[in-house]
Amino acid sequence: MTATLIDGKAFAASVREKVAVHVARLKDEHGITPGLAVVLVGEDPASQVYVRSKGKMTNEVGMNSYEHKLAADTSESDLLDLIAKLNADSNVNGILVQLPLPDHLNEDLVINAIDPAKDVDGFHISNVGLLGTGQKAMVPCTPLGCLMMLREHHGSLSGLNAVVIGRSNIVGKPMANLLLGDSCTVTIAHSRTKDLPDVVRSADIVVAAVGRPEMVPGSWIKEGATVIDVGINRVPAPEKGEGKTRLVGDVDFASAAEVAGAITPVPGGVGPMTIACLLANTLTATCRAHDLAEPEGLTA
Ligand code: NDP
Repeated sequence: MTATLIDGKAFAASVREKVAVHVARLKDEHGITPGLAVVLVGEDPASQVYVRSKGKMTNEVGMNSYEHKLAADTSESDLLDLIAKLNADSNVNGILVQLPLPDHLNEDLVINAIDPAKDVDGFHISNVGLLGTGQKAMVPCTPLGCLMMLREHHGSLSGLNAVVIGRSNIVGKPMANLLLGDSCTVTIAHSRTKDLPDVVRSADIVVAAVGRPEMVPGSWIKEGATVIDVGINRVPAPEKGEGKTRLVGDVDFASAAEVAGAITPVPGGVGPMTIACLLANTLTATCRAHDLAEPEGLTA
């Protein structure tokens, strides 16, 4: 491997540390403890794990964590009532509704019921619009984490060619907007893109957010490019024993690491940064709610 490894796990720990220092200062100087409310509807096992680990990390940085676990058959009006209560609660600075929601609940309606100022996932249509027009927004956590790692590695991103593979609302599109905000020349690729390998070869920065295991081989990567692998794919790992699995990204790490200048691993790259950025966003929302200076380096 010739590429520099971008260690998301270590970087995420440093982001959480920065958040913790700032939270302690908010408590000491202003008597404010940021609070994050996480709403989980149903019993999806993966979502339960995410919610538990979010709660644990929220407490570890000194914030209050409020978990609201609702039955899978909760009605839309009950869920909207809870969101209205959380919107009105001054102890709650951030609200996250764990997705996906059960089929009978309208995700757009629910997300857009959250007060945009408390929308720490950055999915509310107002925040999408603010980000798209280059204004101060709450920014989705995964692309924010990618941006932080890119800034840390490159310093300035100005003028670099960036290719984002994937155009989802939660990763691809906000990622492209953030890179544009940092003056990259941005291409968004997707399943209909022609000559994808050639498009990717033009990139100084590649962000892969596709959801297809190891789809991007090293032969698509320009020598020295920076590769951010957002994908989390579970694949069979017979070498570990029968029925065992392992996680891989959307990039074929082994071949890409031979050509790239820098690359994030999976696991241990983008994943840990996502939760760290959720905490950073909760802190940012708290500072904005109280008209206090925002922490440096933790926002877009
Ligand atoms: P979506 O399924 O919403 O979007 C996938 C995108 O990839 C779509 O825009 C799709 O194009 C595009 N795509 C699919 N096949 C191809 C192809 N063959 N060539 C080019 N583009 C293609 O996924 P998400 O954005 O939600 O997630 C992407 C990945 O990131 C997943 O592996 C997910 O698990 C992971 N993820 C990781 C997070 C983390 O914290 N690390 C957080 C969120 C997601 P089209 O629009 O044309 O269909």
